[in-house]
Amino acid sequence: KAAVMDGVNVEQELSVQSPTASSAKTAFEKLQSDRKTLPVYPYREELLRAVNDHQILVIVGETGSGKTTQIPQYLHEAGYTSRGKIGCTQPRRVAAMSVAARVSQEMGVKLGHEVGYSIRFEDCTSEKTILKYMTDGMLLREFLGEPDLASYSVVMVDEAHERTLSTDILFGLVKVRFCSSLLCSKLMLQESSSLLNIRLLVSYFVGKDIARFRPDLKLLISSATLDAEKFSDYFDSAPIFKIPGRRFPVDIHYTKAPEADYLDAAIVTALQIHVTQPPGDGDILIFLTGQEEIETAEETLKHRTRGLGTKIAELIICPIYANLPTELQAKIFEPTPEGARKVVLATNIAETSLTIDGIKYVIDPGFVKMKSYNPRTGMESLLVTPISKASANQRAGRSGRTGPGKCFRLYTAYNYYNDLDDNTVPEIQRTNLANVVLSLKSLGINDLLNFDFMDPPPSEALLKALELLYALSALNKHGELTKVGRRMAEFPLDPMLSKMIVASDKYQCSDEVISIAAMLSIGNSIFYRPKDKQVHADNARLNFHMGNVGDHMALLKVYSSWKDTNFSTQWCYENYIQVRSMKRARDIRDQLEGLLERVEIELTANPNDLDAIKKAITSGFFPHSAKLQKNGSYRTVKHPQTVHIHPSSGLAQVLPRWVVYHELVLTTKEYMRQVTELKPEWLVEIAPHYYQLKDVEDLASKKMPRGEGRAIKD
Ligand code: ADP
Ligand code: MG
Repeated sequence: KAAVMDGVNVEQELSVQSPTASSAKTAFEKLQSDRKTLPVYPYREELLRAVNDHQILVIVGETGSGKTTQIPQYLHEAGYTSRGKIGCTQPRRVAAMSVAARVSQEMGVKLGHEVGYSIRFEDCTSEKTILKYMTDGMLLREFLGEPDLASYSVVMVDEAHERTLSTDILFGLVKVRFCSSLLCSKLMLQESSSLLNIRLLVSYFVGKDIARFRPDLKLLISSATLDAEKFSDYFDSAPIFKIPGRRFPVDIHYTKAPEADYLDAAIVTALQIHVTQPPGDGDILIFLTGQEEIETAEETLKHRTRGLGTKIAELIICPIYANLPTELQAKIFEPTPEGARKVVLATNIAETSLTIDGIKYVIDPGFVKMKSYNPRTGMESLLVTPISKASANQRAGRSGRTGPGKCFRLYTAYNYYNDLDDNTVPEIQRTNLANVVLSLKSLGINDLLNFDFMDPPPSEALLKALELLYALSALNKHGELTKVGRRMAEFPLDPMLSKMIVASDKYQCSDEVISIAAMLSIGNSIFYRPKDKQVHADNARLNFHMGNVGDHMALLKVYSSWKDTNFSTQWCYENYIQVRSMKRARDIRDQLEGLLERVEIELTANPNDLDAIKKAITSGFFPHSAKLQKNGSYRTVKHPQTVHIHPSSGLAQVLPRWVVYHELVLTTKEYMRQVTELKPEWLVEIAPHYYQLKDVEDLASKKMPRGEGRAIKD
């Protein structure tokens, strides 16, 4: 049953903020009337009442119903921001940015002022910010600095169904920290408090947690899927608020036989729709697995539509993925011009995080790029994996938002019913937990095996994380945070990178090491290689690898050469380097420099001592060491596994005997990316608790022991 609307009230409050320029006003007014057409709007009052009455509320509503953009505004209009900010978390950076941009428009304010966003290494907020969209990872980091979240009046953990690692950890933290009031009052009501209850009571009221008590903090958990009971159960039967969606029927089509090449099949399907259906009919959304695939699809589509001649309507191609430059992100939301059709090439981001209006056709190849983790070896990899049934249904639903839709599944009905899992495994059960464990430890949460996770991670993975942190000297043998660990926790980086930075203090090369860390954080989008200039690009790249210094040093050389040109854009063009990536590296580096000060590490440069820099790298990455085998492959030292140097590495032809690598990527083989040579004795010198002499004895001069070389199985 719909709540009574209080339209007058809404308008009054909003008109205060509306711009005065008359042309802007009409656009602004259009936005306001659009707001009122969203499915959540009729429930505004009822929702506000529910928030008022309960500390925790689970909100369920279809994608596109207005949860993310509207609810924080309603709360602001109802006065919640007079007591503190409203924070709304998103699992993805792009979603946080794009939604914040939208809400700032709707409120008629400049992005970064009243409405802002905060993602790792990019804070677009100010003193004025009252609605803050942020990645769940950022809120987790804010917890570290502000464990009572004092500056917030409401925290909305959005897209909870995604069950990202950070969201799950946030759940655990807010439950322990803020919801104890519920639990305590419940316990006190019980007549016969068992010993356990008394102990619980005591532990809640004793110590620092009492000060962090925040019965006034509102916690909203919003999800696009209907299985909200699980969230409700976890939060002591918190009430569930359902926003009825409007869904039109979606026709689902399967392929008769499995597709050998889903990318090609997706493109063919899109073109068929485009050619056979009238353009005004609706846009197309294709789900792909990542940037590379999207770029390939874009090129192929461009090429093939050119071949179709001029009688065919224009096809506007809109890619969207995590690293898409901000200025291009807005393009997917632009209304499709009359007579044209839009085809959106998206990663999973369009599954529930972003709603693109006007989609009528969804093409779903049935794959997603997903992290997987092997707790035995500690290896993490990104793999293209079949999606779950739940995902498939979300994807299909994107086509039926504004009218009846069609979804083309590029797999068979048999596949769907028999091969797909019902739900995606929560990230916490398939990821490396070192980072999270370090954060929790620095929050004083020591007993991780008994931490109240919604779905606990495998204990093997927890132990592996503890083991790694111990190896990195972040924890002592009692599992307590050390001084090194405390410093490491200040950096929003993986523990191995943080350790590398903390160790650079000892080797007097923090200046170089933070540049390397910043460059590594960019990923592999630094060099580019245009098709018609591949030789030039490769030569330019080789310049940085002169002397076979290794990939880390090459990255450093790129950064410092760019810096020497006073950050010249021209220089980037000449050297086939992405300016945008470099600017991002510079921003990250600046932040790391600021954090150095916080942990009292002096910025010292030591550009000519290569070994010092390599030792600092090894101090963080010694668990990633590998030794050359006779056949040119490598074997990891600690948990023996066959790996190879990635062809893009400067050392791919050099094959040093011992290397340390940044990460493993699995494509056709298990590849090490970003590789540097090391001296085996460093391993024992730097990590005597981890490596023994026998692990690193260099047998170069000796005869190969029996069995070695034969033991390698690909
Ligand atoms: P939900 O969170 O329930 O999925 P949203 O609040 O994200 O819904 O979306 C509500 C509406 O706002 C949708 O119609 C969507 O198209 C629109 N919208 C959201 N973000 C943007 C944006 N960046 N640009 C244009 N429209 C947007
Ligand atoms: Mg949303």
